[in-house]
Amino acid sequence: MTEKQNTKTAIIELNGVTKEYCLNQTFFSKGDSCIIAMNNINLKIQKGEIFGLVGQSGSGKTTLGRLLVKLEEPTKGIIKLNGMPINKLQGKKLKEFRSKVQMIFQDPYQSLNPHLSIAQTIVEPLIVNKIGNNRTRREKVIETLEIVGLSPGEEFYHRYPHQLSGGQRQRVAVARAIILGPEFIVADEPTSMMDATIAIQLFQLLLDIRKKFKMTILFITHNLAAARYMCNQIAVIHNGVIVETGMADIVIQDPQHAYTRKLIQAQPGFNFKK
Ligand code: ADP
Ligand code: MG
Repeated sequence: MTEKQNTKTAIIELNGVTKEYCLNQTFFSKGDSCIIAMNNINLKIQKGEIFGLVGQSGSGKTTLGRLLVKLEEPTKGIIKLNGMPINKLQGKKLKEFRSKVQMIFQDPYQSLNPHLSIAQTIVEPLIVNKIGNNRTRREKVIETLEIVGLSPGEEFYHRYPHQLSGGQRQRVAVARAIILGPEFIVADEPTSMMDATIAIQLFQLLLDIRKKFKMTILFITHNLAAARYMCNQIAVIHNGVIVETGMADIVIQDPQHAYTRKLIQAQPGFNFKK
């Protein structure tokens, strides 16, 4: 590693982050039934990377994503964006954070409001942040639709989610996520509801927009082959603990942890090649 890489500030840093979910808490049984979804996680994501978080269902991947975009708060530990803790952000600083960090969810059927048109869905962040006027917002939405491959943009503008395929819906979610020009995107198993050819097209879109807008992406997946196709670095998560991190190719070719080896054996279909 060069000195320059050594001194680079990570865009995202987790220090000792733990998340517990405590169910059925009452005054008398506080903490009785708690699940530790993430246990003392330390992680750094460098600017410009596509970082893969790989693990089986229930391993804590979505929880980690939700903490990074502040949909939830950690039970313990510090999360930093560009070296600044995000835990206590409020008011203007919180709004600024929300425009820099976005999440694309696993299921575009659930994440898009069926009562909002595509235009209303995508324009919302511009309205919330008081950016532009009706004319410039319309132009921006159409431009963004075309960037995500929904072209011509005018054709999709007035449609509703039920008039789109699953792949197209996820592209709408990508458009909404990138319209404010975020620095960091969490993509949580964005293709798990699609078949393989549509999934590969969406992977390509994510790779293209990362390059075009110089964004950093946390790519969450249960599929090591997809992680290898997409990512520079990966972390393998098991029961809320990161068991292994490293360059994607190296971790997959020479896994050090028994759980990583088990994951590789469980997924023999390594049919993605760079
Ligand atoms: P993954 O995305 O890897 O499938 P999750 O982060 O969704 O895993 O879940 C990790 C663990 O935390 C699971 O045991 C899950 O049941 C639990 N969990 C997640 N969200 C909640 C919640 N809101 N309340 C209680 N338990 C939760
Ligand atoms: Mg999940």
